[in-house]
Amino acid sequence: MPFDFDLFVIGGGSGGVRAARLAAEAGARVALAEEDRMGGTCVIRGCVPKKMMVLAAGFTEAKQDADGFGWHMPELVFDWDQFRSRLHDELDRLEGIYRANLAKAGVTVHDTRATLAGPHEVALASGETVSAAHILIAVGGRPFKPDLPGIEHALTSDDMFHLAALPKRALVIGGGYIACEFASILNGLGVEVLQYYRGAQILRGFDDEIRGHLAEAMRDRGVGLHVGTELERIERAGDGYRVICTDGSRNAVDLVLYATGRRPNTAGLGLERAGIATGRNGEIPVDRYSQTVVPSVFAVGDVTDRVNLTPVAIREGAAFVASVFHGEPTTVDHSLVAKAVFARPEIGTIGLTEEEARAAEPVEIYTAAFRPMQNILAGRAERVLMKLVVARQTRRVLGVHIIGPGAAEMIQMAAVAVTMGATKEDFDRTVAVHPTMAEELVTMKRPARTG
Ligand code: NDP
Repeated sequence: MPFDFDLFVIGGGSGGVRAARLAAEAGARVALAEEDRMGGTCVIRGCVPKKMMVLAAGFTEAKQDADGFGWHMPELVFDWDQFRSRLHDELDRLEGIYRANLAKAGVTVHDTRATLAGPHEVALASGETVSAAHILIAVGGRPFKPDLPGIEHALTSDDMFHLAALPKRALVIGGGYIACEFASILNGLGVEVLQYYRGAQILRGFDDEIRGHLAEAMRDRGVGLHVGTELERIERAGDGYRVICTDGSRNAVDLVLYATGRRPNTAGLGLERAGIATGRNGEIPVDRYSQTVVPSVFAVGDVTDRVNLTPVAIREGAAFVASVFHGEPTTVDHSLVAKAVFARPEIGTIGLTEEEARAAEPVEIYTAAFRPMQNILAGRAERVLMKLVVARQTRRVLGVHIIGPGAAEMIQMAAVAVTMGATKEDFDRTVAVHPTMAEELVTMKRPARTG
């Protein structure tokens, strides 16, 4: 029986759109359904608007630093309404580009919710059923909030780009990417910020030294970071909220942001109708080729809960198209993915942490901690920390960790070397670019410690 399409993609985010376009360009008849705005979490309510807010928040620090360079400026006044309106204009523009690119590639777009109706069938909210030889699920994830009294008062990152006004005092719950990024953003925008994290140190899974450095730097900037702290309930109090911790301590804030992780968006997706059972977190289990237990159904991106980052979803989407529509079985290496946390200061990291590497083999740890040139005249005491984790036997650089201005940009280049399997000696014979912060990556002479 002929199918309506060769490929039906459910979800118009980074992974879905990339796969749809590439498959259509390869000559496949492709349809894509998106119930919300085209572009998904990254473009509409994630990476892109977040980075714009990071940039906006950076001007307070730039102003402080400018004073040290002899610039005298009047007090900065941040106009949230103007920023928000320009931000949304930009998101509209980007969404337009996504739509235009899909149209150019010849993809049929359905602006509606779609669910799985069988191994080859998709049900649209309009009542129509469409058949396809292959179905790709790329519906992403959604913020998760734990259950506690008053949780309905708490916002998630989705809401942060639509605030009617900036709060005076905000509480951020969590110690992951989103919590650290928004605590830094709000702090930079002049909001008084409290951050509660339940564990002993923020950014679990990152290199311990980097975690400690960030926590200290955030506190120095005025973020009220409390570790080992859990919220018991949130109560309305006047125009704001009273937040009460399990140890009985309480505070008054105008906004509570929960950044306590995300969950795959699989509820009500009809997976059972195709015979697909979800995993413990609600994720769709897939093999190395992003194929589910049903041979015609594939899944990429956050819905599979592998490495939940946009560039990874894009890679998975492209690998799916190469495997299925070009006959070139292609997998994605999830073991070596560079990451950035756009907190203030910024973190860039790739490969093993010192702790992970030490547990696996003998290592040498090289570190450089220094005040970057820009901080000297600015009168800023903060140091940049760079760290290379090197395998003692093979000499390979197993991990690079950077915290400081421009860390995300630097790690992209270091990631090329690490991905190629560079050794410490490869780093050493690379001539430094002077005067830069990045030159420290190739001028670390003696290990700070071995283990
Ligand atoms: P993370 O998984 O990074 O962090 C979740 C945080 O919430 C952790 O500190 C966790 O604590 C805490 N937490 C979880 N459950 C509870 C609970 N019930 N009560 C209190 N605290 C809790 O998730 P995020 O929401 O920060 O981000 C989601 C994902 O989005 C990231 O993992 C990343 O993949 C992606 N992302 C990437 C960004 C980037 O690349 N710059 C930016 C933003 C998001 P614990 O450590 O104890 O488990």
